[in-house]
Amino acid sequence: MTDARTAYRLEINGIVQGVGFRPFIYQLANHHGLKGEVANTATGVSLVLEGLETDIRQFIDDLPGKKPPLAHIVEVSKTPEAVKGFAAFSIVKSQGSATRATLISPDVMVCDDCLAEMRDPADRRFGYPFINCTNCGPRYTIIDDIPYDRPKTSMRHFRMCPLCQAEYDNPADRRFHAQPNACPACGPRVTLLDAGGVPIDTDDPVAAAAARIKAGRILAVKGLGGFHLAVDATQEDAVARLRRRKHREEKPLALMCSSLDRIRGIARFGEAEERLLVSIQRPIVLLKKRRNTPIAASVSPCNRFFGIMLPYTPLHHLLLDAGFIALVMTSANLSEEPIAIGNAEAVERLGGIADDFLVHDRDILLRSDDSIVRHSAGHMRLIRRSRGYVPVPVFLKGDMPPVLACGAELKNTVCLTRGRQAFVSQHIGDLENRATDAFFRLTVDHLKRILDIDPQIVACDLHPDYMSTRYARELGGVACVEVQHHHAHIAACMAENNADGPVIGLSFDGTGLGTDGTVWGGEVLVADYHSFARAAHLAPVPMPGGAAAIREPWRMAVAHLSAAFGEDLDALRLPWLRSLDPQRVGILLSMMQQQVNSPLTSSLGRLFDAVAAIVGLRGRVAFEGQAAMELEMILDNAESGSYDFSWEGDEPCRIATAPIIQAVTRDAEKGVSPNAVSARFHNTLILLFEQLCRHLRSATGIDRVALSGGVFQNHRLLAGLTAALEKSGFDLLTHRLVPTNDGGLSLGQAVVAAATVNHP
Ligand code: ZN
Ligand code: ZN
Ligand code: FE
Repeated sequence: MTDARTAYRLEINGIVQGVGFRPFIYQLANHHGLKGEVANTATGVSLVLEGLETDIRQFIDDLPGKKPPLAHIVEVSKTPEAVKGFAAFSIVKSQGSATRATLISPDVMVCDDCLAEMRDPADRRFGYPFINCTNCGPRYTIIDDIPYDRPKTSMRHFRMCPLCQAEYDNPADRRFHAQPNACPACGPRVTLLDAGGVPIDTDDPVAAAAARIKAGRILAVKGLGGFHLAVDATQEDAVARLRRRKHREEKPLALMCSSLDRIRGIARFGEAEERLLVSIQRPIVLLKKRRNTPIAASVSPCNRFFGIMLPYTPLHHLLLDAGFIALVMTSANLSEEPIAIGNAEAVERLGGIADDFLVHDRDILLRSDDSIVRHSAGHMRLIRRSRGYVPVPVFLKGDMPPVLACGAELKNTVCLTRGRQAFVSQHIGDLENRATDAFFRLTVDHLKRILDIDPQIVACDLHPDYMSTRYARELGGVACVEVQHHHAHIAACMAENNADGPVIGLSFDGTGLGTDGTVWGGEVLVADYHSFARAAHLAPVPMPGGAAAIREPWRMAVAHLSAAFGEDLDALRLPWLRSLDPQRVGILLSMMQQQVNSPLTSSLGRLFDAVAAIVGLRGRVAFEGQAAMELEMILDNAESGSYDFSWEGDEPCRIATAPIIQAVTRDAEKGVSPNAVSARFHNTLILLFEQLCRHLRSATGIDRVALSGGVFQNHRLLAGLTAALEKSGFDLLTHRLVPTNDGGLSLGQAVVAAATVNHP
């Protein structure tokens, strides 16, 4: 029945190169009895299929469900072709300038096939810590330039042995064109070093390293995107020593467990969280702690959660084989410096922290931290988007000019756009020291190179002192667009949801410079990509001492109490307030009165800080947002009460904070538990903003609300507001692809800058 044969050309775009896509196409075509050919092109793969119409349809139906795990299909286009009478189906050479514009896969976990081989004593890769295939292993962190071929990766120093080369060349093999392909005969090796960087003589460096961890020592382990510091999570002494040496006093430390069963022993999780734990990205998932576990208390003090991940490299699996309940696996850096990547660099920088180093000779070309996710209000929410997710782009609704957005000052990421794709970088960190500054520049250059993007527009924050803003302003030859921080938050949320404006945007965070020169952070905007109006905001109060007020929430408490009670402040029966040196309080009050180093702020994050301090939770924090986080942690779920609230004026409405502060204070004076006060405060905010949105809906006719900003990492607020707004018939936009915190800001800056340049 050769007469019935038809032919089509399919163009498939997305992440379809370097992920075993052509062998998959080859096998699928043979499975359906189709002839033709497949080749890589500049934007993906192109194939010609000849055969029966029904078989071709079947083939196309099979694509999404059967594709290789790392492939990500964005678009399939199908056009008729003349029948040429192919004799077979074959993989042919790349066409023209192939692979320059193609998408690079993120680094993902070792696959089950590779793990099974690693566990098989008869396999030539038995116990080999760098086993990988086209379905798994390193990508983004080992690529230097495009096209993605072995000479452009850190595998270029390793010449494949004949056995590996044969796998690499065979289209039917799981390692066909797997660039990091390696084996014990030809690939990278691990070495155990002492604190001074001198190799330790051992036949089995991994087992020796595990034994040292068991003995309570701190091991620096080279991983996929950088070094971890590992200690036995059940040894209090070891964990405490790690914290001391790392100067990381209170932030929770991440854990790694060998299996879901092990995790079940120390934390609670449901189906959704299990899916996140086992996903190929292998993020750190925030899970509720169980009571009375053997995990050292200092792993995550004052926190109801553990951040836990499953092993994702073969080396992790081998280390955990020693039988730990859990390992602490925290980024190997001094606080807020980027994760260490080079062996020499690691020994130098971590010499005072780690007792031993488990290193290897496959270079990490681009550092990438572990990603952190949480399941909240029905969806996965990224707290830190890095390894496993980057560089998968956010797919936008419309074409973009090439933009570089430089992001925020804290939790910095950058974003580059190309066509309908927005590439948000891995987590770069807080741009407060030379090391992160260099990492920022390195990442921008690296992304420009591997994505082949030459930005015509650069976007940054309004804040003149941000390192990222200074970088943007110094770039010559491109249009520079400054984007207001809270507008960028809302635009990021719209962009990842492919939504057009206008929206009512609730933009809640700690700090961002407003257009009036004050510090914003409790903003309700009416916004589209192009512009915004400030529809409502919290009534501003002074931030006595500026940045010091972020580290010392008691200052915000005094500011809010003074705004709410005036002179009556002295009469308040709050134990923590009475225990303060009256002179210090006096100085603070006169600073605010004379407007010395006391910028005005409408920040909701700072209101959380103030409430946390008023109920006596803490007056000082070790990291931004800690007090607010702890206020959420203690919340009494059974408490349904709330406080009165009000707002005044229009365009913008001023939301009065004084009545809320007064009610919180009265409760605290009466001895109402902080747990109940926290619940009432959260409930109040949910009621307030739901009502305010309805008020704005009747004034503007807009029934779509976008939620963005770091405050929405607060699960209660996100879940409560989502439920309340949906019940009132609003169309709701929230973050699922990029973080709601400043890690998502660069995406918003990029889309606003593009809209501004297109329509000045
Ligand atoms: Zn594999
Ligand atoms: Zn080999
Ligand atoms: Fe922010």
